Amino acid sequence: MLKEFKKFITEGNVMDLAVAVIMGAAVKEMVDGLINGLIAPLIGAATAGINMKEMAATVAGVKLQYGLFLDALVKFIIIAFIVFLMVKAINKGRDALHKEPAADPTTKTCPYCKSEIDITATRCPHCTSQLSE
Ligand SMILES: [Zn+2]
Repeated sequence: MLKEFKKFITEGNVMDLAVAVIMGAAVKEMVDGLINGLIAPLIGAATAGINMKEMAATVAGVKLQYGLFLDALVKFIIIAFIVFLMVKAINKGRDALHKEPAADPTTKTCPYCKSEIDITATRCPHCTSQLSE
């Protein structure tokens, strides 16, 4: 059983999961900072001092704290946007890695007549110009 546990711990998935959880906590920390430090004061300023988290309505004697839901909703949208950007960046990197390397050019353009000629040519077959390179 210990051997099985060791295998479970050392196999990639557990480490990936640990990294994901730690990264998730770090992202949440960042988003909290963003909201509490920037967005909430801006909303407060735009709404003349209303604290989003404290928004509530009393219906039939029950206090409905819809501000908490709005706060969570804003956080969710920001986190979803960050995750979207991350996935986009990762996919872009993956595409770049798997892209076929561009074929070496076999032709060049004659600087005099602009014809496409063999890359090793020293004289243009179209205009007979001597090519320096
Ligand atoms: Zn030419």
